[in-house]
Amino acid sequence: MQVTEIDLEKRETRPRIPAPGKCIYCYEVYPDSELTEEHVLPYALAANAMILEKSCCKTCQREITKYEQAVLKHQLGVFRAQVDAPTRNKKERPKEVEIHFVEVGEDRRVTRDLGTRSILILDAPTMINLWQSPPPAILQESFRRPSEPWAWSDTAAVDALCKQVAEETGVKHGIAMSVGKVNRLHYLRSLAKTAHAYAAAEVGLDAFEPFLCDIILNKSDDLETYVGDMPGIGPFAFDPDHTLQISLGEADGGEAGSYLVVRIQLYPNLRSPEHLIVVGKPTRNLDPSAELAEERG
Ligand SMILES: [Zn+2]
Repeated sequence: MQVTEIDLEKRETRPRIPAPGKCIYCYEVYPDSELTEEHVLPYALAANAMILEKSCCKTCQREITKYEQAVLKHQLGVFRAQVDAPTRNKKERPKEVEIHFVEVGEDRRVTRDLGTRSILILDAPTMINLWQSPPPAILQESFRRPSEPWAWSDTAAVDALCKQVAEETGVKHGIAMSVGKVNRLHYLRSLAKTAHAYAAAEVGLDAFEPFLCDIILNKSDDLETYVGDMPGIGPFAFDPDHTLQISLGEADGGEAGSYLVVRIQLYPNLRSPEHLIVVGKPTRNLDPSAELAEERG
């Protein structure tokens, strides 16, 4: 597998990738003046780390904005503020976060709702909400793992905050807190969009027959076929400084041949879900070393 790691902290800027002459999502040919540049990795996560020139039409941009903004603002907004991720508008940064507390018994069942409190972002424990899923069904139909929210938090800070709330509310047993909700469709659709754009940038639109366009343009909700997690296939030198890993490769599809896949892991230093997205079917050999070997005969 070919590996590209983007270090969000260092805001590495890769060269801009030339315009493909059409929209990379609907494949319609447009004059360059009607296409906008596309951040392969959303600006809010990776600033200008990877830009595809003139490659998205206005109609597709409108469809993508519907879910991508929700993910970046509502799902990841607090975390992005806490780690000072790139933003185009610092004033719009959330200053407070709503945290919901419950009292729980010894069996971890909720015994009392303690309501929601507004906590200053600076005082709130660092936390992030993602989603974990079984592998994409097209690769591994029978394998079943739960499809459910995944969260990481600074446990020492969470314990300190819970202790404070417990004292104020007279909770005797345990206390638990929750922050934000993940919209599964929005999040997985954003992964599909990023994976497709990344493949288009790395190998070109002609190199694969795309699977994800209907998903990206909100015409299909069949995400579990193509978007899931596949732990342990990472390359991948674990570097705690790297805050996003994205890489491209081929997966064995059995009788169907091979599939073009993209692996995305956000904040791998948190041991977060390792997403694998099946982008399409290769239309040519994508491994340059194999092509060389063929030429040599
Ligand atoms: Zn389009």
